[in-house]
Amino acid sequence: AIRPLIAGNWKMNGLKAQAAEFDAMLNGAADVAGKADLLVCPPATLIAAFAEKARGKKAAVGAQDCHPKVSGAHTGDIAAEMLTDAGATAIIVGHSERRADHGESDILVKQKAEAAWRAGVTAIVCIGETQAQRDAGQTLEILRGQLNLSLPDASTAANLIVAYEPVWAIGTGLTPTAKDVEQIHGFIRELLTSRFKDEGARMRILYGGSVKPSNAAELMAVKNVNGALVGGASLKAADFLAIAKGC
Ligand code: 13P
Repeated sequence: AIRPLIAGNWKMNGLKAQAAEFDAMLNGAADVAGKADLLVCPPATLIAAFAEKARGKKAAVGAQDCHPKVSGAHTGDIAAEMLTDAGATAIIVGHSERRADHGESDILVKQKAEAAWRAGVTAIVCIGETQAQRDAGQTLEILRGQLNLSLPDASTAANLIVAYEPVWAIGTGLTPTAKDVEQIHGFIRELLTSRFKDEGARMRILYGGSVKPSNAAELMAVKNVNGALVGGASLKAADFLAIAKGC
């Protein structure tokens, strides 16, 4: 069986004062360690402090994005090596908010995944269709294109995690039905297995989009759902831990 991962994406939320919330997550982490791995991806400004706190505890710290290059004249950008130097053990790439707000292409997302590997950590590659694409019946075609182009050929179960996040479900309180999730995760699994063989069969596929304590158990029980990428509900320790307990 694939061990579930519950990953929290804090997005652009969190000041030093929120360290207490992270402390509460660390305190509860041992209780859920039997069920799932825990990863918290705070804003880059908090990675070093959180990684220090997480040392020896049952939760890891990740990053939300990286630049594809190792260094250079890229004002305001952060290299994967800088994030791992600060203590990040995984990097989210290709989140729909980055694809939309910063015009990130599948090719750039693939370069960022390779940058995460270059820095020695796992890439969490996000894919997902918009409401308009869904309404037009293009969901599977969109996901196939994103997977083909954003996942590097050298992807393995250890170095890559796929996060399926329907854009229309992010921050809206809407979620696909368990049946829809099963169909889509099954489709993703087929593509991963056909391209990456055994590695694809063992790769984690996370679901993301309005995951809450009240719907987590149902979603996490769906075949080929190997954990969650949680936004809003990952900001509160009680909610985040309750989601992990639902695995
Ligand atoms: P919400 O859980 O707030 O819907 O966000 C999901 C998400 O985008 C996680 O990356």
